Amino acid sequence: MREPKILRDLAWQLSKVAQETKPCHWISTPDGDQGDDWCPDCGNYKVRNLRRHDRRRRREYILDGGWCTDHDSMPFCAGCGSILSGSLTSYGSAEELAYYLENGLSETPRVDAIYLAEIMEALVYIEIADCDLSRITEMARQTIAAAGGANG
Ligand SMILES: [Zn+2]
Repeated sequence: MREPKILRDLAWQLSKVAQETKPCHWISTPDGDQGDDWCPDCGNYKVRNLRRHDRRRRREYILDGGWCTDHDSMPFCAGCGSILSGSLTSYGSAEELAYYLENGLSETPRVDAIYLAEIMEALVYIEIADCDLSRITEMARQTIAAAGGANG
């Protein structure tokens, strides 16, 4: 049985212990959006680099974003590989849920917490067929305990 209050509570606790993510940026160029996601440091570096190689249109290279948007999978910085801030779509959450049910938790609870918080949040609103809800909520509880629990 799906209990939204428990799921919401778990999502909140997970977000408290989750590893901090960097803001997600993208680069607008005179030729359109470049497609990659960047953390602020790598993004600024990349923009400076692009501007140097296209001085005539330099003002048209802009580091955009910095706010949370929806993704089908968690965004990573194209430069340093850091996990960036983002929300998962229903599709993305269902994919991650299937992944966790199949593979179990990773060695890094604070990273699992990022994903599991998104999954719990999604489960509040969407019904995912054939989902072993008791197993995923148990994983969420284990992650909260492993990542520091109530004392953060
Ligand atoms: Zn980076």
